[in-house]
Amino acid sequence: MRIAVVGTGYVGLVSGACFAELGHDVVCVDTDRDKVAKIQSGVPPIHERDLPQLVRRHIGRRLRATLDLTEAVTSSDMSLIAVGTPLRDGKIDLSFVRAVAEQIGTALKEIRHYHVVVVKSTVVPGTTEKTVLPILEAASGKKAGYDFGVGMNPEFLTEGEAVSDFLRPDRIVLGGIDDRSIDAMAEAYRQFDSVPVVRTNPRSAEMIKYASNTLLATMISLSNELANLSAEVGEIDVPTVMEGVHLSRYLTSEDGQTAQLASFLYPGCGYGGSCLPKDTKALVSQGMELGVPMRVLEAVDHVNRAQPERMLDLLRRQFPELVGLRVGVLGLAFRPGTDDMRESPAIPIIHKLVSEGVEVRAYDPIATESASAVFTGLNIKLCEDMAEAVQDVDAVLLITRWDEFAQLPALIARQPVPPLLVDGRRMIAPVSVPNYSGIGL
Ligand code: NAD
Repeated sequence: MRIAVVGTGYVGLVSGACFAELGHDVVCVDTDRDKVAKIQSGVPPIHERDLPQLVRRHIGRRLRATLDLTEAVTSSDMSLIAVGTPLRDGKIDLSFVRAVAEQIGTALKEIRHYHVVVVKSTVVPGTTEKTVLPILEAASGKKAGYDFGVGMNPEFLTEGEAVSDFLRPDRIVLGGIDDRSIDAMAEAYRQFDSVPVVRTNPRSAEMIKYASNTLLATMISLSNELANLSAEVGEIDVPTVMEGVHLSRYLTSEDGQTAQLASFLYPGCGYGGSCLPKDTKALVSQGMELGVPMRVLEAVDHVNRAQPERMLDLLRRQFPELVGLRVGVLGLAFRPGTDDMRESPAIPIIHKLVSEGVEVRAYDPIATESASAVFTGLNIKLCEDMAEAVQDVDAVLLITRWDEFAQLPALIARQPVPPLLVDGRRMIAPVSVPNYSGIGL
C-alpha cells in the first residue's frame, strides 16, 4: 500500500518507519525543512529506541521524506494526518489538523483512484466527522463515502517504546465513515492478523483514545493522592499499600501475572508528556462546552498539577530555608527512554528551585539538548554525567525513572556528607542510602 504520513513528529515518523518495515511504500511530509533533510539523510530528528535502524534500513527504498504534500498525497492510497493537537487557552487547538485537511482536500481534486484520509492525531470526539470531513469535501469538491474514504485510527504508542509498541500492538482501532474506509485502513495493518481489531465509527475511535489516556491519568492521580495522605498519616509506605492492592484478583491473574495497568497505580511526582496532561484537559473542556462537567477529570488534572510541589515539600522538611542550597536534579525527560521534555514535572520543579534561590545541577542521560532549549536563560548547570550532578550537593531530587539512576546509592556512599535523596519515583530502596525521603513515605 502507498501511504502518505503528514506530520513527521513522534507519531508520524514512528508510524511511517514502521509501515515501511511492514512492507508499505511510505512518504513522510513535514513543513520543517530540517526534519525532512535529517530523515532523508537517514537520521531521525528525535530520540527513540530502534528508530535509527528502521529509518536507515528503509530510507531511499520504501521510505522517503518531503515538503511537498500534494505530490505525496496524490501518489498515495491513504493519507494519515499526524500533526500536533496542542492545548490553546485550555482547549484543543485543531488549527494544524484543519490546515492539513484543507491541503489534502485540495490534493484530492487531482486524484482519480480511491484514497482514504485517516486522522491519526488525537482529536476530541466528533472532530473527524464534524471538522475534518467537511473541510475535505469543501476543498476537493468531492463527496466523502463516494469519491474518497475517511477514517480515524488512534495511536497508542508510548514514547521511549514507540517502535516496539507499533510493531507489537495490543489492539488496532479503526473508526471509519463506511466499511470501505475501514477495510482500507485494515489493509495497512494486514500483517497483524492475530491482534484484536475494533471496527467502529470515527467518534467512538476518538473516544477510545481519550478513555484510554484519561484512565491512566486517573490511576496515577489516585495513587498520588493516596500517597500524599499516607505520608501525612505516618507509618504507611505506599508501595507496600499498592503491593496489597495489586494482589486483588482484578489486577493479578491466577498464575501471578500482574496486569500491566497496575504499573500506573504507583506513586510519583506526577505525569507529564505530550498526551496525558493535554488529553485530560481537552476532554474537560469539551465536557464544559457540551454542558457535561467532567468532575473526575478536573480533579485528576488538579492533583497532577500540584504533585511536583510535593518534591519541594519533602525537601523543606529537612531544609526549611531553601535559599543557598545546592541540589542535584536527576532526570529531565517526562519519562525514561525519550528526550521529550513536554510537560515534564522537572520543569516546574526546577523553576521553583531556582526562584527559591537554590543552585541547581541537572542531569538526564539523553534529554540535555531539549532541556537546554526549555531552560534557556535560567541559571542552572546541565551536567555531563550523574556523578557530576550529585557531587557535593545538599540534596538530590530524582524525577525520571531512568535505569542508570539505580547506581545512585553507590555514588552517594562515596560522599563524606551524604546528601538527602528525595525519590520522586520510589525507585531506590529507602535503606540503601543514609538520608532518604520519597513520595508516599
Ligand atoms: P509532534 O509535535 O512531535 O509532531 C507534529 C509534526 O507535525 C511536527 O513535525 C510539525 O512540524 C508537523 N506539522 C505541523 N503542521 C504541518 C503541516 N501543515 N504539514 C506537515 N507537517 C506539519 O507531535 P506528536 O507528538 O507526534 O503528536 C501528533 C499527534 O499524535 C497529537 O495529536 C498527539 O496527541 C498524538 N499522539 C501523540 C503520542 C506521543 O506519544 N507523542 C502518542 C499518541 C498520540
